[in-house]
Amino acid sequence: MPGFGCRVKKGSLTPDTCSSMHELSIANSILEAARAEAARRPGARLVKVGVRVGELSGVEPDALSFSFEALVRGSDLEPLALEIETCPRRQRCSLCGRIFRVVDFDLCCPDCGAFESRCISGDELEMVYLEIEEAQVAPAPEMGLRAAARAGEREWKNGPSSLGKESPQ
Ligand SMILES: [Zn+2]
Repeated sequence: MPGFGCRVKKGSLTPDTCSSMHELSIANSILEAARAEAARRPGARLVKVGVRVGELSGVEPDALSFSFEALVRGSDLEPLALEIETCPRRQRCSLCGRIFRVVDFDLCCPDCGAFESRCISGDELEMVYLEIEEAQVAPAPEMGLRAAARAGEREWKNGPSSLGKESPQ
């Protein structure tokens, strides 16, 4: 496997059985971050979370979305969706400065043919956005309060009035 050497970067040279555990723990931390954000916005509903996964991050996008779905299913966050943007490996030629995308692990500069280049991207693993459906901005909580006040009022009215009816007559 020619690709294997390239994935060692972050010490992620793990057998396949372990790598799905790896994705599972990443999915879990994405969910934790989403939950923390939801806690800051009472009443809001989480719709979608976007993550960026670099080719070199050692994360398998398919395994990640599988783990994510498995964790979300049946949880309070269902039906939260995950969108994965994969980032290709990019190198910068040390001789001419050209930035190029690495295809088939060919690290030679397509312009000048130099073999010396530096990896400048492709190891990303980050949350990019969180799509949230806000609870209807101001009116909703206000209405809720008013409804609660009315309910309390009615209860109070019923109490004394029913007592008043029964006791004197
Ligand atoms: Zn070059």
